[in-house]
Amino acid sequence: RSWWDHVTPALKDLINAVTDAFLADPCPYKINLGVGAYRDDEGKPVVLQWVREAEGKIGATNFLESTSTAISSKLVEESAKLIYREDLDVIKERRFAGIPALSGTGACRIFAEFQKRFYPDSTIYFPDPTWSNHRNIWGDAHVPGRTFHYYHPDSKGLNFVALMDDVKNAPDGSFFLLHPCAHNPTGVDPTDEQWREISSLFKVKNHFPFFDVAYQGFASGDVERDAQAIRIFLEDGHSIGCAQSFAKNLGLYGHRVGCLSILCNDKIQAVAIKSQLKQISNAMYSSPTIHGISLVSKILCNPDIKALWLKEVKVMATRIQRMRATLREALERLRSPLNWQHITNQAGMFCFSGLTRAEVDQLAKEFHIYMTHDGRISMASVTTKNVDYVARAIHEVTA
Ligand code: PMP
Repeated sequence: RSWWDHVTPALKDLINAVTDAFLADPCPYKINLGVGAYRDDEGKPVVLQWVREAEGKIGATNFLESTSTAISSKLVEESAKLIYREDLDVIKERRFAGIPALSGTGACRIFAEFQKRFYPDSTIYFPDPTWSNHRNIWGDAHVPGRTFHYYHPDSKGLNFVALMDDVKNAPDGSFFLLHPCAHNPTGVDPTDEQWREISSLFKVKNHFPFFDVAYQGFASGDVERDAQAIRIFLEDGHSIGCAQSFAKNLGLYGHRVGCLSILCNDKIQAVAIKSQLKQISNAMYSSPTIHGISLVSKILCNPDIKALWLKEVKVMATRIQRMRATLREALERLRSPLNWQHITNQAGMFCFSGLTRAEVDQLAKEFHIYMTHDGRISMASVTTKNVDYVARAIHEVTA
């Protein structure tokens, strides 16, 4: 008998299961539409030019010391400006607590732990559906998760009425996780007007909005535009928490760079909250790695470099938007009996296609096209070369 006889395999991660099936398929023209990572029109991963430039600039730096306070403060400040607004009083007056985090996942994980520590009996409401890891993250922090209505399968858009009902019926002072743009997995975002109504109701109910910002720039191509939901909540004077990831918009997936920030009433509260966040991260992994933090700081701190990076974000988002239009047109040209407007109505990296599980299975078996069972298509993996084949296959399984 060994120490670990009682350990059985954990449930397979949904996305990894798709990747495994894709890798095991010997077909030379197989396509993986499962992974939510940006690809260029050749289907290749992209290293952004300004990340390369920044790499060159920090190449000679001596990284023997762990994260320097100066570099992490810069990262936090510039990250906060990116989502909350450059000239915001909260930032100028340092009324926010922020720490660098291990990408978006790490930021969510630290917040979940913080929530548990200071609101031990609280729950968190997730949109239905949401990124599958949200449940794991808050679950591991022992914060029970609930859901609120979000997606409407008929319209393949937002179920706004049911969403508002759920916000209204949740106990006052509940925690809500919101995707401010490019919702994963549905690509469905509320309009500005709907965000205003959500924000007003949150105010009445005294709910806490926690924004998970994993795709800033990917919905509209403009990082400022994509922060609009957060800005609307700011105007209404909410206390806000944000998990920010630079995995997608800087293409830094493996570097794990992110930021967790919480807006506070005053500087004293900010200092207290920051020290608590640091204590939690210290116990988990001491400090994040310095290389990625230095890269992001280099880009965000230099207005010229930042402007050029923002152009690259625009290029990525525009390519995805073009592929949405092309895929929809191709399906319409094939005289598909179904309505595919939602492909262009939805925004960001993903299209929630409405394909059933059986259709998804058929796409894999007969056409070697892989995606998650919920029918989510990573539009970033659709290219000029494969779009017609993808459209024909979708048409075949749905006609
Ligand atoms: N939130 C959402 C909604 C996501 O889709 C992702 C990435 N799939 C993340 C957070 C976290 O990503 P990362 O930890 O790689 O930054």
